[in-house]
Amino acid sequence: MRTILYPGTFDPLTRGHEDLVKRAAGIFDRVLVAVAASAGKNPLFSFAERIAMAETVLSAYSNVEVIGFNGLLVDLARQRGTRLVLRGLRAASDFEYEFQLAGMNRVMLPDLETVFLMPDMHYQFLSATMVREIARLGGSLDAFVSPLIAARVLAKLQAN
Ligand code: ADP
Repeated sequence: MRTILYPGTFDPLTRGHEDLVKRAAGIFDRVLVAVAASAGKNPLFSFAERIAMAETVLSAYSNVEVIGFNGLLVDLARQRGTRLVLRGLRAASDFEYEFQLAGMNRVMLPDLETVFLMPDMHYQFLSATMVREIARLGGSLDAFVSPLIAARVLAKLQAN
């Protein structure tokens, strides 16, 4: 049984994240989408909201589970008994950060393998940061997130 962890902030989950989950769900037995508390990033959505949104959007995938975590990814990998981590690579700009992260994790847990997948080209430029920014400026989110998430982002911005 090959389980892969897909960690991230998911603030909120975008169609790019979903594209990656779908690809991984077709390759691995189980995908654990691990929503990081990421308090230091000051997310727009609370930890619980990010988990709930990801759960709703990904409920159609029978071998995908959403969990929350607070701490080191290597500790989560140990706890869950897996050595596989999924991360996404978009345009070249992701490489340096992802390379560093994978390298640091490998120092802490030498047999941890980070697997990189590329999303469909439509999502190569998509980031949760841009989604939040477009929403703030009144743009449509339909191309970037599922309808449920678009509604939640709008509601959140109105409430703030
Ligand atoms: P983090 O704070 O860990 O970077 P994110 O939620 O921003 O969390 O991203 C989680 C992972 O998903 C990262 O590996 C990131 O590169 C990847 N990712 C984000 N957006 C996309 C996208 N549009 N296509 C593919 N991968 C993506």
